[in-house]
Amino acid sequence: MAPGFPGLFLSSDETGLYHRGEIRYNRTDSTQIQKAQPERMSNRMENLLIRGARIVNPAKNEDYIGDIAVSNGKITAMGQIDELPGARVIDAKGLVAAPGLVDMHVHLRDPGFTQKEDILTGCRAAAAGGVTSLLAMPNTNPSTDSPETVEYILNKAKDADAHVYVAAAVTKGLKSQEPCDWEALAKAGAIALSDDGRPVENTRFLADAMNAAPSLGLTVTAHCEDLYLAKGGIMHEGCVSRELDVPGIPAAAEDCGTAREIAVAEAYQVPVHICHVSTRTSMNIIRDAKKRGVAVTAETCPHYFMMTHEELKKRDADYRMNPPLRTEDDRQAMIEGLLDGTLDAIATDHAPHTPEEKADFRKSPNGSIGMETSLAASITQLVKTGCLTLSQLIEKMSVNPAKILKISAGVLEEDGCADIVLFDPKEQWVVDENALHGKSKNTPFKGMTLTGKVKMTICGGKVVYEG
Ligand SMILES: [Zn+2]
Repeated sequence: MAPGFPGLFLSSDETGLYHRGEIRYNRTDSTQIQKAQPERMSNRMENLLIRGARIVNPAKNEDYIGDIAVSNGKITAMGQIDELPGARVIDAKGLVAAPGLVDMHVHLRDPGFTQKEDILTGCRAAAAGGVTSLLAMPNTNPSTDSPETVEYILNKAKDADAHVYVAAAVTKGLKSQEPCDWEALAKAGAIALSDDGRPVENTRFLADAMNAAPSLGLTVTAHCEDLYLAKGGIMHEGCVSRELDVPGIPAAAEDCGTAREIAVAEAYQVPVHICHVSTRTSMNIIRDAKKRGVAVTAETCPHYFMMTHEELKKRDADYRMNPPLRTEDDRQAMIEGLLDGTLDAIATDHAPHTPEEKADFRKSPNGSIGMETSLAASITQLVKTGCLTLSQLIEKMSVNPAKILKISAGVLEEDGCADIVLFDPKEQWVVDENALHGKSKNTPFKGMTLTGKVKMTICGGKVVYEG
């Protein structure tokens, strides 16, 4: 088991669920309880032979130079392969072949905010970033609080360049007034529950959702924030917010939320996943909880381990997100947490907004895009510096999020779905926001020189991106 997962994952016997991929089944009666992922179109499927890649496959403890054969959407062979008749041969010398990345925190903005992004453009951005599976957050319009909206997303995603999984809302309209029908949402195909964008203010509903989730096969992912402490703030409360004379969001706003979520998980002995951790205190709270055996998992995002609130001196709203960029000590804490397994996953919190919305530093909505830069940013900050091996990075970006969400992803294996990213771990490139593939350009990585370039993304056996 990967570091950072000391017994956190219920075995299939305990959950009653023994498979999650295209279709999930309940062990007790073997009836199909939900279809997590509709069948994908097969129009661009071809036979592929990837030759001479460095195969980094941490789920199997593999790191070797070899070939991968792909037919009919599946990996048919790995190792040394002489030939695959009729196949397109991809010379992957010098490239890494890894399981497609799993981004467990994405805002696709569809339905309702398609001027920012939609399901197809968001998945194009995913493909360009090597992401083959993503979890779409529910703060859309309408929010994902009904089976109809879950079905709308899954249906539209059939034609998308990534596998789209749905996080449905904990409460109707994310308003914390009335809980959703979680069983109906699970039956419609949702795999997670979250009010992300907001905390579940009513702790009773949060506890009920966390208690109901395991038997429904759902993962609760929690946006941790005390809205009263955060109210009115537009950036981290500290020396920079004082210098800029703008209202701040204290670290305690996040930490109170993290502590509450973990208290509930501990009291009822149920799992919870903490979203976008950005403070040292939250990291410490999670670390201590894991030591006690609480079933908590956590993610952070590249901007939190690469940037600090100093960036806000540019008065550019592309550096505004929630939680906000924090201090250098917090940034260091994110790296420490990734190293020691406290932080299991790297997600992006990909949050597109139009240039018009981002024009005003003070009035802009929070959020930044991230799927096309996450792998390179992580290689630059974590692998190039010697903090993590490539294999450990792929654990954080593919293996672990797949485990947390209990989806079929994060591994390269014969007869497995051909979700593969090929990247050059050494190539340097400068992030040009206008060259990105999503609709919105609000990236805090603009102008940065990053190391590690996605060269090809294969999703379900189809080449969905070539760089
Ligand atoms: Zn959030």
